[in-house]
Amino acid sequence: MAQWFAAKAAHPDALVFFRMGDFFELFFADAVTAGEALGLAVSHRGEHQGRPVPMAGVPVHAMEAYLARLIRRGFRVAICEQMESPEAAKARRAPAVRREVVRVVTPATVTEEALLEGARPSWLLALAPDGAGRVGAAWLDVSTGQVCTESLGVAEMGALLARLEPAEVLAPESLAAGDALTPLGGTVREAAPPRDGARLAAEAWGVAGLAAFGSFTEGEAAALAMALDYVRATSGGTLPRLAPPECRGGENTLRMDAATRRSLEILRAERGGKDCLMGAVDRTLTAAGARELAARLATPLAEAGPIAARHDAVSFLLAADAVRGGLREALRGAPDMARALGRLSVERFFPRDLAALRDGLLRAEAMREAIGGASGVPPIPPLLLSAAEALVPDASPRAELSRALAAELPARLEDGGVVGPGYDGELDALRRLRDDARGAILALQMDLAQAWGVASLKIRHHQQLGFLAEVPAAAGETLLRAKPEPGPMAPVHRQSMANAHRFTCGALSDLDRRLSQARDEAARREAAVVRHLRGLCLEAAPGIAHAARAAAEIDVHAASAELAAGGGWCRPDIPERPEFCIAQGRHPVVEAALRRNRGPAFVPNDADLSPGRRLCLLTGPNMAGKSTYLRQNALMVVLAQAGLFVPAESARIGLVDRLFSRVGTADDIAGGRSTFMVEMSETAAVLNQAGPRSFVVLDEVGRGTATWDGLAIAWAVLEALHDRLRSRTLFATHFHELTALAGKLPELAPAAMKVREHRGQVVFQHLVGPGASERSWGLHVARLAGVPREVVGRAEVVLASLEERARGLDPLSGELPLFAGTAARGTAPPAGAEDPVLAALEALDPDSMAPREALEALYRLKTLLPGHGVAVAPRKESLSSVK
Ligand code: ADP
Ligand code: MG
Repeated sequence: MAQWFAAKAAHPDALVFFRMGDFFELFFADAVTAGEALGLAVSHRGEHQGRPVPMAGVPVHAMEAYLARLIRRGFRVAICEQMESPEAAKARRAPAVRREVVRVVTPATVTEEALLEGARPSWLLALAPDGAGRVGAAWLDVSTGQVCTESLGVAEMGALLARLEPAEVLAPESLAAGDALTPLGGTVREAAPPRDGARLAAEAWGVAGLAAFGSFTEGEAAALAMALDYVRATSGGTLPRLAPPECRGGENTLRMDAATRRSLEILRAERGGKDCLMGAVDRTLTAAGARELAARLATPLAEAGPIAARHDAVSFLLAADAVRGGLREALRGAPDMARALGRLSVERFFPRDLAALRDGLLRAEAMREAIGGASGVPPIPPLLLSAAEALVPDASPRAELSRALAAELPARLEDGGVVGPGYDGELDALRRLRDDARGAILALQMDLAQAWGVASLKIRHHQQLGFLAEVPAAAGETLLRAKPEPGPMAPVHRQSMANAHRFTCGALSDLDRRLSQARDEAARREAAVVRHLRGLCLEAAPGIAHAARAAAEIDVHAASAELAAGGGWCRPDIPERPEFCIAQGRHPVVEAALRRNRGPAFVPNDADLSPGRRLCLLTGPNMAGKSTYLRQNALMVVLAQAGLFVPAESARIGLVDRLFSRVGTADDIAGGRSTFMVEMSETAAVLNQAGPRSFVVLDEVGRGTATWDGLAIAWAVLEALHDRLRSRTLFATHFHELTALAGKLPELAPAAMKVREHRGQVVFQHLVGPGASERSWGLHVARLAGVPREVVGRAEVVLASLEERARGLDPLSGELPLFAGTAARGTAPPAGAEDPVLAALEALDPDSMAPREALEALYRLKTLLPGHGVAVAPRKESLSSVK
């Protein structure tokens, strides 16, 4: 218990897995917590301060599965191992075997396959203030050895978190307490940045200074040191193999903030959905390829050259069917070399990790051959050439591993049989000895059966007692009574059971000793050979890591080509000018969902936000397809700049520096997250950051408040985007009044979702056309939906009168023709909606009226005429005010 208390005191925020023989036991509150989380029975053992001690245990062999569940639920686990055998403890007269915490299992420091998501990196992110409002960030993936840093403004932290989705974050108290990290909850740990981070980090990579790898700020170096320190602390003082840190600061990437990522659902679905962009476009065949694709979608580029280089690779593979086929054949089922290497480097590896390198390198060789087999016309693009180069490292341990590893590998190293025959002479000799001894046992069994006169004598192996000769009870009694001649075959009694007796003899003990010696020596020799193989792999680690990376990149290029080969995807043109011109674009996720559900075919739509018409104001009723259209165009930017093809017939997308996507609050009520305040602060972020090279998608912004405020805000935002920010913008709104802006803002192009009526039903055509949507669809839809005629008719009268009153109240009405009709720009509205008198007339149902009611209706109609009673203006006048 003293050992347990010491372990717990050193790791108070972790569950202590306390090794006791074949089990890891949990005690006290840990037992209760883990018992609940894992569904374990909680028993009791002994007493502490007069109270029974709760205890729960998991078998050692099943530990990984239990760890996986605990880590996923946000727990950390301290593994307290037995550091010596019970015999050794007895020999030094200790009251208990020595135990130590050898490792703390945390979400970002695991390497086990079962604890990792194959298609996602597992980032540990450290943040250290850099002074002057900047933050140094360092993130590393222990499972693959990748390390990156960046220096960023405090305000950009949210975007970085959204981009990386780290498994764990380390931050000093000053940052940990801030708003940016709050949503991460339990995965944030407080850690203090060291003073001499640069020196500590340089030491870890064995270089004189970090300058060897690039220019790092003090904050970046401090963050690096924090991350290294944490990894060391959780892994019992050792560091895994880590690639040299890559400084990301100067890189030109497409900026997207957290709200944009959320609304575009790039890597994961929001609001309970299960479809995301990644899911719809991922045709990669390996986990490493999927990680690379996810990284590209999360961080698209913003430089024309590198983007075009990726498109070149995809184009080439799209045209070269045979090369693509060869590559994908080699990729299918290829092992995850990067992660196998990670496990080898932390010495928590399995025989299959060695095999993964052998097979992975073999696949990489096949991939290089596939590329080499290309005809040369057209020439192989540079990205594929350099990848092909990297696929086969100079010092590849592949041949050595192929010779060394047994054809059938055991699951665990300690099972033996990892190294096959013929690789190591000494190991072969020891194994022969071991196997000879086995033969000798059989021979001795026959000899003893004869000497002792017991034909059914069997030599068996027992865990504690070693080899013993077992004879039936009756024969045993005879042997016990007999006075044996002394000598190597003389039976010595060891154990009696109900129906058998067990004996040994000098010859048997001798053999037993020789056999166990041979077994131990063979095992020791095999361990040495495995160590040698591991050493070879680690020596070649940089080359293997490059090969793994190259294979992953090729997987991504070939996957994009494969997607395009199905038809309907094109290579986007990426000019520097801020153009945006899409022909027949589609939303890949909605399209896939419709196809899966055997729904109607997706309707493609054009988009044109070229200079002169940079703002598209899209109107249309609910469910007409506005949000889909907005997002499909934003996703087009993400895909294109990530270096993939896009779902369209043709696409010209001027380089985008920042992408913004916002959804009005009313569209997100189910999320329960948004408030109008959030909506406005997210809109503020757009207005403060967007510029002439940015791409902005605003979906029903201003919806989260009363009509008047909302309309006013939407109006002002549109004006700002048009006059000041000059971003390419798609703006969907249900405020039809905004279409009145069309005349005022020369670069605003109104568009509307086409809707038609078919046999009394509203049919959404999902087609975007020029002009504004008719303002009367709300009431029209209500009528078609079966709302009683009187109610709809009354609603029309009320609407007209409300609008007119609003005009009267609005001192700026001349300046802001908010409620001017818009029919002039759109197709003809349905009869009755245009004129309040006609509307009221339409609402009448003469068949259901008594004569007197009819007369009253006639009077009422007269009051609606201009200059009578309720202020209802003729539409004609407002029409002219629009023009
Ligand atoms: P809105 O934002 O106008 O309310 P949405 O964009 O949410 O409409 O679209 C509503 C539904 O219409 C979508 O879930 C989808 O099923 C369908 N839809 C949208 N656009 C298309 C399209 N271009 N082709 C086919 N179906 C579409
Ligand atoms: Mg919508």
